[in-house]
Amino acid sequence: MSCHKSYITTPIYYVNDVAHIGHAYTTIIADTLARYSRLIGQETFFLTGTDEHGQKIEESAKKRGKETKAYADEISATFKNLWDDFDISYDKFIRTTDEDHKVGVQKAFSTMYQNGDIYKDNYKGNYCISCETFFPASQLVDDEFCPDCGKSTTIVEEESYFFRLSDYEDRLLAWYHDNPDCILPKSKRNEVIRFVEGGLNDLSITRTSFDWGVKLPEEFNDPKHVMYVWLDALMNYVTALGYGTDDKNMDFHPARVHLIGKDILRFHAIYWPAFLMSLDLPLPKHIGAHGWWTRNGEKMSKSKGNVVNPKEVADAYGLESFRYFMLREVPFGGDGDFSQKALIDRINSDLGNDLGNLLNRLIGMSGKYFEGRVESDLVAKYYQAELDEVDASLAKLEPMIFELQLHKYLEELWRPLTVANRAIDKYQPWTMIKEAKTDETMALNGLIATILAKVSLMLHAVMPKTTATIIEALGFEITPESFKRIIRKGEILAPFSIEKREPLFPRIEEQLLVEKKPEEAPKKPEKKKEKQVDKREGIALIGIDQFFETSLKIGTVVGAEEVKKSKKLLLLQVDIGEEEPRQVVAGIKEWYSAKEILNTQVCVVVNLKPAKLMGMKSEGMLLAAKDGDGLCLIRPEKPKSNGTSIS
Ligand SMILES: [Zn+2]
Repeated sequence: MSCHKSYITTPIYYVNDVAHIGHAYTTIIADTLARYSRLIGQETFFLTGTDEHGQKIEESAKKRGKETKAYADEISATFKNLWDDFDISYDKFIRTTDEDHKVGVQKAFSTMYQNGDIYKDNYKGNYCISCETFFPASQLVDDEFCPDCGKSTTIVEEESYFFRLSDYEDRLLAWYHDNPDCILPKSKRNEVIRFVEGGLNDLSITRTSFDWGVKLPEEFNDPKHVMYVWLDALMNYVTALGYGTDDKNMDFHPARVHLIGKDILRFHAIYWPAFLMSLDLPLPKHIGAHGWWTRNGEKMSKSKGNVVNPKEVADAYGLESFRYFMLREVPFGGDGDFSQKALIDRINSDLGNDLGNLLNRLIGMSGKYFEGRVESDLVAKYYQAELDEVDASLAKLEPMIFELQLHKYLEELWRPLTVANRAIDKYQPWTMIKEAKTDETMALNGLIATILAKVSLMLHAVMPKTTATIIEALGFEITPESFKRIIRKGEILAPFSIEKREPLFPRIEEQLLVEKKPEEAPKKPEKKKEKQVDKREGIALIGIDQFFETSLKIGTVVGAEEVKKSKKLLLLQVDIGEEEPRQVVAGIKEWYSAKEILNTQVCVVVNLKPAKLMGMKSEGMLLAAKDGDGLCLIRPEKPKSNGTSIS
């Protein structure tokens, strides 16, 4: 891959649903990466779009009494309109009902067939209509229910074409192994590796039970088959670049990052690279799988009426504040919680106090002392230490963005703002000017301006309009050229005059959206009461709030070793759905060997203060029960996703 080309994608969104905060989150991350790529001078192609085929769409349209294509048109347009409202800087919006996409998918099918990867057979199996996927009996829950969505599966027998996915096991494992960053966060890569190591079945890639899909290429002369939606959908990443038609933008392939939600990781991390290998095309650099959003600590659902409407939030609080909040609030890959309180805190504190107010202070000081003039040529003479501190922070940023560590990126990017605000308090320009230290005072203003300029350039991809406003106030424009001058070459700012302006982030005093179900908002922990005691048992009673102060989660032990000098301790790495596994030192060696606990699920107390045991950090505790017979771990009865809360 050329390092001057940057291809960024969102998934194509399924038109069976309207856009919610999860779609907005994926798309905003992708938009941020695309804007950043462009700013650092890379040729960038940013793709989004809609996935419109499959039985579910056919049925949804029928239910509404609509023609299938008309229904798909309607929903697809709601996505496109939302992204246009949100200023999403996509280069192409693909629809799987586009003619050139269909031609490309057929070309891919023929090529895989010619390469010996497709064969025809009969298939009988448990099919989940909702997930449009067959599941082997071994994966079903209670012999009937879909392991992904929990709905009942039906036995379907049909003629089908198969992709020889089983042939790709070794090559896939080699790819994961040789490319430790291919799947982000890394804990997700381990999950995929374990899945593939468990063995892959060949994949049924055509259906005869419905016909809302891409037909097989004509030479197959098999009109009752349509392509499996996932083959059709995944191909969008190359057909959008002209694969199978004009190949016009194929030099952007492979993607720098495919951004997805964690529910579709398996399709992207297993099927997609296998398809690409079959087509002799290079594999993506990163597949980034993010987590879910809850609202006020609760799962969102239509029935609860608590689904966050991204448009509503952006209209009330400002699109850019919302973008900042989402990217700052959650470590990539982890689950995030949306609450108006948390959003307001971020706006008032990070954006209002730290960023907006710094611009105000610059305007105030330069207005009062220098009639608005700001000159930066003496900054290094008086404030080299501050400049060094700022540049040290900025130097750490670039790798974080493409490793999708956006929360860390923004955290680090706020340090220079702290340096600036601290410098004002420390050097006290109001005193310096009285002591006739004119140069020092002007240089301090120059320092503030320089920091605002650098932070704004690095923040541009996240908050394009806000940063453009700040940079304009500093007398220049945001372009790849100015990025190069100020960030890469460290050139000093040209002198400029700054004028008074409205605050960027006026303080928000109260929630701007009506919560539909205020009674479901989490109650604040009550003040400690006298312990109530149940008279029969002599057990202290607690309120539900106290119970929920303990955060319990399901995790999988992904690393285990015996602590040599200890009779009791095992050193474990437990994946609880966070970016990195947690290290837990557990006193269970008498009852469990490292080998037998590895790859099993456990229940973890995750909000204990970290402790040190024999010099090793322990960041959690496993639930266990012990009686005269010894100790056993408490485990979920059925496998649950890592990070699932226990309540
Ligand atoms: Zn399902």
